[in-house]
Amino acid sequence: MVYLATNEMMGETMSECIFCKIARRELQSQIVREDDQAVAFRDANPQAPTHILVIPKRHISSLAEASEQDGELLGHLLLMTCQIAQEQNLESNYRVVINNGAGAGQSVFHIHLHLLGGRTFHWPPG
Ligand code: AMP
Repeated sequence: MVYLATNEMMGETMSECIFCKIARRELQSQIVREDDQAVAFRDANPQAPTHILVIPKRHISSLAEASEQDGELLGHLLLMTCQIAQEQNLESNYRVVINNGAGAGQSVFHIHLHLLGGRTFHWPPG
C-alpha cells in the first residue's frame, strides 16, 4: 500500500501513529465527538481558546496522500468540523487548517483538520 510506504519513509508505522492510537483509544485524549468514520479531540497544545483536531479513523498520512476515493471521507471531516464549531458556540468565526508536509508545519503524519476559534485571527497566517 502506498500510504504505508510513505509512513515508513517518515520513520513511523501505522501501529505507532499517535492519532491512530487516539482513534483506537490506546492513547488518552479529550474526545469531543466520534462516529464510525472520524474522531475529534482537543489539541494537547492549543493555539486558541478552542482548538480541536478532526481525524479520520482510517490512516491517511497527509492531504497530498488522499486519493479520489477519499473524497467522501474528506467531505465528512469538513462537515463534522462545521458541526463541532456550532456545538462549541463559535458562531461563524473560526478557522479550519490543514498543514500538509513538514515545510508547512505538519508534525503528525495522519491527516487532521485543525478547528481554531475563540479569538481573532490574522491573515496571512504565519
Ligand atoms: P500539525 O503540526 O498540523 O501536524 O498538528 C499536529 C497537532 O497535534 C499539534 O497541534 C499538536 O499540538 C497536536 N498533538 C500532538 N500530539 C497530540 C496528542 N497526543 N493529543 C492531542 N493533540 C496532539
